[in-house]
Amino acid sequence: MPASQGFWGDLGQLCRAVVRAMAVTFVNLLRKPVTVHYPDVERPYPDRFRGLLALTYDKETAEENCIGCRLCEYICPPQVIKVEMLKAEKRNYAKTFTLELYACEFCELCVQVCPTDAIIMMKSFDLATADRRELLLDKDRLHALGLQFEPSWATGTLLRDMQTPPKAPRVEGAPAKTEAPAEGKGE
Ligand code: SF4
Ligand code: SF4
Repeated sequence: MPASQGFWGDLGQLCRAVVRAMAVTFVNLLRKPVTVHYPDVERPYPDRFRGLLALTYDKETAEENCIGCRLCEYICPPQVIKVEMLKAEKRNYAKTFTLELYACEFCELCVQVCPTDAIIMMKSFDLATADRRELLLDKDRLHALGLQFEPSWATGTLLRDMQTPPKAPRVEGAPAKTEAPAEGKGE
């Protein structure tokens, strides 16, 4: 604790501190604001942003992409997805599909395992609400979100392709790999 410099000394020190603080305030007053007036002004999301989850339709046939296979349900760590499969003649569907977004970890595992790119993340996080029940998303709501927001780049197919390890380059002159003889063969 600094020693007291007497009444006038302390008063001078206080005044200098106030002037320094006001100078910082004045400099910031003239700076361009870094905040935006949301929701009137929307800040553009980065290209690789992935937020809300949604269900998709096939662009050509307009059919639901989800085949109700339940892989997303099995992989989901906090178990917030529930799917009921509806078996049909040509393909299967999701009879019901619910996602409790309020408990989602946004780990993207459901997207990664989906064989038909039916569940994806959108390039938005614009679903703020004060009512938790609004974040219990059913199949219709998930499809509506898929139409409402711009999809992110990451589909299950692209993510799986990205994670596939590259094949080792073939070395010139190296002997071709021969298959190991089956156990017990020729005995
Ligand atoms: S992002 Fe992760 S936690 Fe959220 S629904 Fe998908 S698998 Fe579950
Ligand atoms: S969203 Fe994908 S992984 Fe989940 S049930 Fe539908 S097809 Fe299967």
